[in-house]
Amino acid sequence: MKRRQFIAGMSAGVASLASLSLPRLALAQRDRPRITDIRVHRMKTLGETGVMESAWAPGRPYMRRVGGGTVTEILTDQGISGIAPGMSAGGINRMKQLLVGQDPFDNESLGHQMRYTNGAANNWRDVGCIEIGLWDIVGKVVDQPLYKLWGAHKDKVPAYASMIQLSTPEERAEQAARLKAEGWQGMKIRLHHLEMKEDIRTIERVRDAVGDDFTIMTDANQAQSSGTWQPGIQWDFARALDTARALGDMNVYWLEEPLRRYDFDGIAELNRIVDIQLAGGENNQGVQEFLWMIEKGVYDILQPEILVTEGVQGLRAVAALALANHKLVIPHHGGGQLGTIAQLHMIGTWPHCPWIEIMNDPPISPYTNGFAILENPPMVDSEGFMAMPQGPGLGVDIRRDLIVDA
Ligand SMILES: [Mg+2]
Repeated sequence: MKRRQFIAGMSAGVASLASLSLPRLALAQRDRPRITDIRVHRMKTLGETGVMESAWAPGRPYMRRVGGGTVTEILTDQGISGIAPGMSAGGINRMKQLLVGQDPFDNESLGHQMRYTNGAANNWRDVGCIEIGLWDIVGKVVDQPLYKLWGAHKDKVPAYASMIQLSTPEERAEQAARLKAEGWQGMKIRLHHLEMKEDIRTIERVRDAVGDDFTIMTDANQAQSSGTWQPGIQWDFARALDTARALGDMNVYWLEEPLRRYDFDGIAELNRIVDIQLAGGENNQGVQEFLWMIEKGVYDILQPEILVTEGVQGLRAVAALALANHKLVIPHHGGGQLGTIAQLHMIGTWPHCPWIEIMNDPPISPYTNGFAILENPPMVDSEGFMAMPQGPGLGVDIRRDLIVDA
């Protein structure tokens, strides 16, 4: 059933129930949508754009692709479905047990159940995927984009181009000049050279290329100690301190993840000493970890990730903590597809979020690679802004012709 038919059906229900003098609440409860199924679709890959090695994973270059990936779809008995990033195949049955027959508007209750029963699986990504899908349904039922439903603060936000590869200082400077010419207002550069002086020379070259009216962020990716072994350069406190001071002198906006993920005392000590803002949190799990970091003065800018930090509810809770403690919240990228779109809507509600992270290292890894699965993806405009989608829910549709398993 199309949404319009559904609303027409609702209107007919209003008339017939009104004649029986039943209270409106009874009507609302009777006609509520119910979840019927959860599916994960594999999306077709449309092409390849080349091999690139991520700066944070040296030794593991891989082919970058247009489209591809997976999408979760939550179906209801009223013809409206919600879409979300692809959850794990192993998690589908457990989520179905929790969700089939339930009202997608009950997302606080369902979210609580998902979190409570997720302890053994410890798969916060699945929780995030399901919450995004539930909210997409809610937005479609009430015919509003999510950022308006949650309470809009702004209709667009500047996107910063988040670099992927390390490359040479000269090439990064050329890349920066090209991005600025396209309209981008800022970019984030990876600091992974063996020698600190090469990291600093990179930022010097970039600053020379773009001038002062362009924002430069930097990322050392030093908080990855709990993940897959990545044999890159590892910083000690002295390297972090010397780098932070040098970057501050070049008006760099932030230094991200200068030390290990749980070296809260070390990062807080660094933060007390240096002027440059410190950012981090992309792999921290749960609202409690962000509370501990705030209490210790670890970061100035919190970077929760929707597919790591307990989904929509988790991110909104971290944003509330940030607001109450006079911190900025600028989420980690969200995966480059529907997770990024969900975060774009959240950012639209936050007065203390001045940027969105968009992974964009063209020509091999432009952000349009991931968005190619969407019918109507948001684009970065000629002034460097990304606008919140105006359609209901997430405001974007997947290209149904790309579903491989349909
Ligand atoms: Mg990062």
